[in-house]
Amino acid sequence: MKNFIRIAFAAVILLAGACFCYEITGKVIGVKDGDTIEILKDITPVTLRLDGIDCPEKRQDFGQKAKEYTSSLCFGKTVKAVISDKDKYDRLIAKVILPDGKILNDEILKAGFAWHFKKYNSEKRTADMETAARSKRIGLWAGKDPVPPWDYRHGGSNDSKAPPVTGNFIGSVGSGKFHKLSCEWGKKIPNSNRIYFKTREEALRQDYKPCKACNP
Ligand SMILES: [Zn+2]
Repeated sequence: MKNFIRIAFAAVILLAGACFCYEITGKVIGVKDGDTIEILKDITPVTLRLDGIDCPEKRQDFGQKAKEYTSSLCFGKTVKAVISDKDKYDRLIAKVILPDGKILNDEILKAGFAWHFKKYNSEKRTADMETAARSKRIGLWAGKDPVPPWDYRHGGSNDSKAPPVTGNFIGSVGSGKFHKLSCEWGKKIPNSNRIYFKTREEALRQDYKPCKACNP
């Protein structure tokens, strides 16, 4: 019996690891928000969730702008979607290729209208695009301490519970800056945006910039 369970487990892991990538083509007939679009494949509408990015929710700052930006890039065009997975809402996770060969997901990220969706995507190139937009302070990065949409969805806002202090330096995932724990600016970081670093080097490695007031 034990062996059977072990074999069953191995089979599940193997299947989970297998990529089920495939491509579909269709005309974009709807943009639900910045990271979710609808295409018409033959005569069937298909909802696509753009892979690797997470746009601000509609009621968040820049949510509407993100939607408009995505729309301006793809609405009415015939696109190719490379499907890699399905999410729990049955939306297909896709990289969408525009008629000019550009990748829609990347364009939105580069313009600063999305966060890199770290939880589901670990590609360095995607992370770098977010970092670049953030340092240029374009799109949502022009805002003051933007709240990641995944925190917003979980009711996260400035009054969400503070995470436990797990390092000697505190950073803000919104501003990309880090501080000494004693810094007044560090204390003002919304709870949902807090990230801790054990060392200064660890913060620098992750592209966080030292605060000019406390010189961490
Ligand atoms: Zn500081």
